Order: sequence, then structure tokens, then C-alpha cells
Amino acid sequence: MNEDPRTATRVDVVVAGNGPIGAACARHVSERRPELRVAVLDSERLRSGSDDLGRIARPLDAEGRDEWTALNARSIDGFEEAERLSGIQFFTRKGSLAIGSEAFVERGAARLRARGVTHERRTNADGGVAEAWGFLARDGIPSEYEAVWDEVGGYVNPHAMRAAQNALMRRASEGRATVTRTTCERVESNAATGECEVRTSTGETYACDVCVLACGFYTEPLARECGLLTDDASADFGDVKIARRTVLLAEVLESEALGALATMPTIKYEAKSVYVLPPIYYPGPEPAPGWYIKIGGGPLDYFDKSDPSWARTERELADWMSSDGDEVVADQLQEILFHLFPSTNFQSLTSKACAYSTSDDGSLKIQTLGPGANIIAVGACQGKGAGPADAIGADVAERALRALDARRAP
Ligand SMILES: Cc1cc2nc3c(=O)[nH]c(=O)nc-3n(C[C@H](O)[C@H](O)[C@H](O)COP(=O)(O)OP(=O)(O)OC[C@H]3O[C@@H](n4cnc5c(N)ncnc54)[C@H](O)[C@@H]3O)c2cc1C
Repeated sequence: MNEDPRTATRVDVVVAGNGPIGAACARHVSERRPELRVAVLDSERLRSGSDDLGRIARPLDAEGRDEWTALNARSIDGFEEAERLSGIQFFTRKGSLAIGSEAFVERGAARLRARGVTHERRTNADGGVAEAWGFLARDGIPSEYEAVWDEVGGYVNPHAMRAAQNALMRRASEGRATVTRTTCERVESNAATGECEVRTSTGETYACDVCVLACGFYTEPLARECGLLTDDASADFGDVKIARRTVLLAEVLESEALGALATMPTIKYEAKSVYVLPPIYYPGPEPAPGWYIKIGGGPLDYFDKSDPSWARTERELADWMSSDGDEVVADQLQEILFHLFPSTNFQSLTSKACAYSTSDDGSLKIQTLGPGANIIAVGACQGKGAGPADAIGADVAERALRALDARRAP
């Protein structure tokens, strides 16, 4: 790779960030235009919002939004083929269960009906929910609650999904697309030439036609730091905020993971707005090797944006991500977990900090930035961007190729 700051490495597309969305975007660019040189640059130091072994993928959106439901459905449809072609398994089909008020459950059920997804519905008037899913509390779930279950959903392993997307990208591009560990520190679009220049932490410079910022919760701070959020068009993207999140990993015995909990689907529980993942084996060292159920959710706690400088944001995020999260939230999650799973024999509890970006209207933001209209920023995944990442990545790839074609049009 070019390390001389005076001469840039010339590629067609730079994708900053090799998370679920950046990896999917790069793969779709390469599959659609195998002749393009694509440089995926993934930070050697910044933490990823998907650094975990389980992220829920549902055929519907838990909040009942059509935009997200469609992205989820398109992504899940492509999992089997991506696994087969890459030889890397990343999706575990366990089904998905949503438990809540009649209105909450109907929102999801209506979308499953509309898409022809086979599903079952239960009321809890006579303890029907605990009867169907024996590990759940018979008395704890309100009697007026209902549940809807589908067998299509499950969870993805984000690391494996990224590896599969990278393998498919390399295969399609025959080596023209690469992944490099480095942090994009400066992204500029030259108004005169329309070319983008990307400077990295390891002293390299890339010149490209189009740059995609798929840096997870770092996208908005990076775009801001690079002066890309100054005009009206980008004002909307500037509203993206970063929320602190805490999850609890609750260790279960292998005999329970493979026994009573073997059929456990992913769960969205309306009361307290929490989600729960079925037991996943974590190989250690952190948390210690074993089977863990994960619970997360609760109210959003935003980072202060009154001084959104890059230095402050990076420092605050680094401090937060290396902490155990919020103790109060962890205690609340523990209480809900024990209440929902009264007969499960939990061995240990580990809380973890994480973060994701949100927008005020709950929608995903894919925004074209820069004077050359050739920087595409992705943000506000609302804590649900890993399951639908393949479809989001395909849409971002489409946008990037349109920008590339517009730039090269005679
Ligand atoms: C606690 C928690 C639970 C969640 N649960 C779910 C769930 O159940 N289902 C679901 O679908 N989603 C879930 N999410 C959300 C999901 O993880 C994110 O939406 C998803 O990871 C977003 O993918 P991404 O590729 O945009 O970003 P990320 O996964 O954060 O990846 C971004 C990548 O870019 C790199 N990067 C950052 N800055 C730079 C830079 N300047 N230069 C180069 N590289 C850079 C990072 O190192 C990282 O590798 C959850 C999130 C959290 C925090």
C-alpha cells in the first residue's frame, strides 16, 4: 500500500468501515461491477458496534416500521445463498417471538401476514404463552399480553457475517477489492476535480471517485470533523446522535442451553422494551468460556453533543466501550431476566457497554455529502442494523455506483 503522502493510491471506491454494513456494501459493489478497485479500510483502534457473537435478525420490525421490515426481509432472504457461496455459516435460525399488548403484537403479525410469513399467535389469558414456551414465567407475563412467533428469524454472528461478505467481495472482484486495517482520519471531496481524498492513521492517502462512510456510530463524528455537515442538505444527518447501551450476558449451564432452552427463539418483550437472545456459546476469554443468554434494551442515554469534536467523541466512546456499562441498567435487566426465566439456573452475570446511533424520526440515514456529491454516509441504525445489513449495504452500494456513474458521465 502507498505510504508516501505525496502520491495517493488510486482506487474507484473507498469503503470506510468493515462492519456488517460496510462489508455488505463492498460486496455488492464488487458483485455489480467486478472491474472496480475497492479499498475497504477498517479501523485498527476504534471499537465496532457489532463486536459480539449475536445480533437478532427478524422478518419484521419490532417497532412496526415498514422501511425496516422490508430491509430485514430482503436480508434474511439472502442469508442462505451467501452462506452457501462463501462457505461461512453466520445465521442461526431459531425463530422470533414478540410478546406484548394486543396492539404491539398485531403490528408485527400484520406485517408477517402481508408478507406471507408463516406465524403463530397466542394469547396469555390462561397462561398460553408460558405453556407454548415452557422456559418462560407462567405468572410473570401479564394476562392481557399476547405473543406472535415465526420460524424465519434468528440471530447472526456479525464477525462471521463480515467474513462471509468479505469472501464474496474478494471472489467477485478477483482480488481487485481489498481490506486494510487502518483508520480514515480525513475525508475530503475536491470541488474542482470531484475526486475524494482519504487520509489514514497509517499515513496513506487514497484518491477515489466515491467514498462510503460506514463507520457505525463513528460516521457522524467523522463527517462532522471533516466539515461535511455544514450545508442544509447535510443538516438532517447532523442530527444523528449516539446512545450508550448496556447489555447483560447471563451464563447458563450447557445442559440447559442444549436442553430446556434449545428451542428458545429470539424474544422481544414489550414491557420494559427489552430483547433476549437464546443461549450462544462464547469461547472466552471475555466473558469466560460458556453459554450465555443476552438481554438488552431500556431507555436511551445519549452522549452529550454540545461539544461534538472528534477528540472528545473518540475519548468518550473509548472510555464507555471499555467499561462494564451502566450499573443501574444492568440491575434492571437482571430483574427482568429473572422475572421472565424463573426456572433457569443462571451461573454468572456479566454486563457490557455498547453504543449505537439514532435519528429523531427512527429512520435509517443514507446521505450524500460533499461538494462532489460523492461521499455517501450511513448512520442511525437505531440498534437494529446488523440483521438487515445486507439489504442496507446493497442500497448504499446502489447509491455509491450512481454517484460514480454521475461523476464519470461525459
Ligand atoms: C447492545 C447492542 C445490541 C444490538 N442488537 C442488535 C440486534 O439484536 N440486531 C440488530 O440487527 N442490530 C443490533 N444492534 C445494532 C447493530 O450492531 C448495528 O446497527 C450494526 O453493528 C451497524 O453496523 P455498521 O456496519 O454500520 O457499524 P459497526 O458494526 O459499528 O462497524 C463499523 C466498523 O467501522 C470501523 N470504523 C469506525 N470508524 C472508522 C474509521 N474512521 N475508519 C475506518 N474504520 C472505521 C469500526 O472499527 C467497525 O469495524 C445492536 C447494537 C448494540 C450496541
